[in-house]
Amino acid sequence: MSLNIKESTSEMRKTGFDWKSIWNLNLPTKIKIFLWRSLREWLPTQVNLARRNILVGGLCSVCCNSLETAVHALWGCSRLKKVWNRYDLLRGVNFASSLCFQDFFSSCTQNLGKKDLKLLCVVLWHVWFLRNQLVQCVGRHGLKNVVPWSEEFLEESMVVNGVVGIQREQVRQNEIKWHPPEVGFFKLNTDAAIDVQKWCVGLGMVVRDCFGAVKAGSIQRIEARYSASVAEALAILRGISFAIYCGYDHLIIESDALGVVNMINLGTEISADIGVIIEDIRCLLQNIPDARVRYVSIRKANVVANSLSKLALTLDVSYFWLNSFPPAVERCVQDDCPS
Ligand SMILES: [Zn+2]
Repeated sequence: MSLNIKESTSEMRKTGFDWKSIWNLNLPTKIKIFLWRSLREWLPTQVNLARRNILVGGLCSVCCNSLETAVHALWGCSRLKKVWNRYDLLRGVNFASSLCFQDFFSSCTQNLGKKDLKLLCVVLWHVWFLRNQLVQCVGRHGLKNVVPWSEEFLEESMVVNGVVGIQREQVRQNEIKWHPPEVGFFKLNTDAAIDVQKWCVGLGMVVRDCFGAVKAGSIQRIEARYSASVAEALAILRGISFAIYCGYDHLIIESDALGVVNMINLGTEISADIGVIIEDIRCLLQNIPDARVRYVSIRKANVVANSLSKLALTLDVSYFWLNSFPPAVERCVQDDCPS
């Protein structure tokens, strides 16, 4: 199976694709980002997961008959026939030589007018959403209504709100959202919360992959009276220790404590009470082959870690988890997930 996966993915990394053909479309940004990820073969299909050594076979999780590449998941899967058979727009397009999603999409851009192409993009985006629901056995999987739903969505986006307004709003939302790390990296977000009345500090840390999936996390409560900077530095220190313990060696570390991040990266203004912690952080970083500490300027990009630190204040003990997360942060994790 691994040989087949290599063969089928070798064709995917094509160059020369006209990226403007998607970025210039008047569509909500989340749809354009979805298309961009599909065209880059960055969707978490079974084939992509297998390529990243995640233990899956690579077969389509819906039909179980073919390798689950992006082009299969979005177009070729037998379970999607009811969608595409009802979709007259694609009848004149020849996909005989399509090996990858870029080929499929290029054929569509060459054969469809702008309006139909936009509709196709919304359909693909919605198919991916429904497919994930089907795999996770949640929701009602109205595949036969994909096209009417997409037409309605497109109409509402364009007419009711005005597409320019939507795009600006989407861009604003994207700017303040958490962003997944680049492929091959994991992102550690840390935060600290302080209960000044009870003299305790809650630390929250979460590690996610390039798909936004939670890989590991921890909440820790410390009975002590710390300054905000010391608490934030401790969250980073404990977070890095935890990430090393879990074996993540390509790590982006994000905190919303600018002063602490500058102390770590630049060695600026290290005061006595925090100096030992900063020194420990720097020592730990030397044990990670590829680690970068970053400041996230807006707290909304650090919501999960922030919620975990607050959760830690309410508990008596520390917790850690792998490949899951507490129900209390489920909503924040979902909000952060790339669409
Ligand atoms: Zn399939």
